[in-house]
Amino acid sequence: MQSNMRILVTGGAGFIGSHLVDRLMENEKNEVVVADNYFTGSKDNLKKWIGHPRFELIRHDVTEPLLVEVDQIYHLACPASPIFYKHNPVKTIKTNVIGTLNMLGLAKRVGARILLTSTSEVYGDPLEHPQTESYWGNVNPIGVRSCYDEGKRVAETLMFDYHRQHGIEIRIARIFNTYGPRMNIDDGRVVSNFIAQALRDEPLTVQAPGTQTRSFCFVSDMVDGLIRLMEGDSTGPINIGNPGEFTMLELAETVKELVNPDVEIKTVDNTPDDPRQRKPDISKAKELLGWEPKIKLRDGLPLMEEDFRLRLGVNKKK
Ligand code: NAD
Ligand code: UDP
Ligand code: UDP
Repeated sequence: MQSNMRILVTGGAGFIGSHLVDRLMENEKNEVVVADNYFTGSKDNLKKWIGHPRFELIRHDVTEPLLVEVDQIYHLACPASPIFYKHNPVKTIKTNVIGTLNMLGLAKRVGARILLTSTSEVYGDPLEHPQTESYWGNVNPIGVRSCYDEGKRVAETLMFDYHRQHGIEIRIARIFNTYGPRMNIDDGRVVSNFIAQALRDEPLTVQAPGTQTRSFCFVSDMVDGLIRLMEGDSTGPINIGNPGEFTMLELAETVKELVNPDVEIKTVDNTPDDPRQRKPDISKAKELLGWEPKIKLRDGLPLMEEDFRLRLGVNKKK
């Protein structure tokens, strides 16, 4: 029989974190503690659990030490969207480095297993395609994205050093682009931008050249992968993402077709260091976790559209 678990989710008020909390709370043996400073997350995402006897929400910044007693730590706290992580790059790198150090110190003190949500950005602008976990990446150490990419790379290093030096049980997920309900509407990420633009009858802004590719994973698949990784036997790093690869122009065409066929698509300037292509090799996740994504982009986009319609107050056209 499975015993009771106290689980800490840092960044649990955010997009992926709140879906993870929903899934963890479904198991009556779990008690969930969320620590979040609400920089990019919101209490709203957790409102159905506030006041629940097995749930606790703490306003806490992970760059400060945290004293709680838990069995597992899902460490997600970190802004994920370029406009937010570039807003205060020093804070972003502190969150990745000092925040992860603190969570590892906590894991060491209480003997908890800890999972880090790293990112496909550790591969930078990859010279290998698709990306396998053994690829070391092509990252600019001094660019405007470095606070995030290099921050996550150091976070991975810290995880392995604590594992080797102190015997901490670690799990590292390298998450590829994820989308779904509760994404921040104005966070500048491509799927949220296109859906919000389509609903507002504004042109879809494809950043030049538009031939760059990404692979998009629906959030329920992501949460399933993270939990399997935590519960499984391998430390990782393991890629978790959907290998379906699309150019940004293809994505715009798909959103146009599904959400608003009258909307215009325009090309706008891009930002520096934008990776040209990205697609996970998920052989390891399949083999070691028995995991692969189930939801296709065309099936996931309408679920996100529904949530954005409610939040933006835009009804479906008859
Ligand atoms: P999000 O911005 O919605 O969630 C991050 C949460 O962390 C927010 O609730 C925010 O308030 C909190 N946070 C930020 N800094 C903090 C700090 N110093 N102390 C405490 N809380 C803090 O982002 P998300 O998309 O849910 O991403 C969750 C994790 O997954 C992040 O670690 C991110 O790097 C990783 N990831 C996400 C994606 C993606 O496509 N969404 C891709 C790769 C990796
Ligand atoms: N830490 C924490 N909670 C704990 C234990 C440690 O936040 O329950 C922090 C602690 O403040 C320190 C970091 O984790 O900054 C690393 O802790 P560790 O014990 O590994 O290193 P040390 O304290 O010896 O530097
Ligand atoms: N992008 C776009 N239009 C937008 C926002 C982003 O074409 O309105 C492009 C961006 O240039 C990048 C891709 O979409 O090539 C993914 O960007 P996002 O910020 O969502 O994620 P990341 O770059 O972190 O993978």
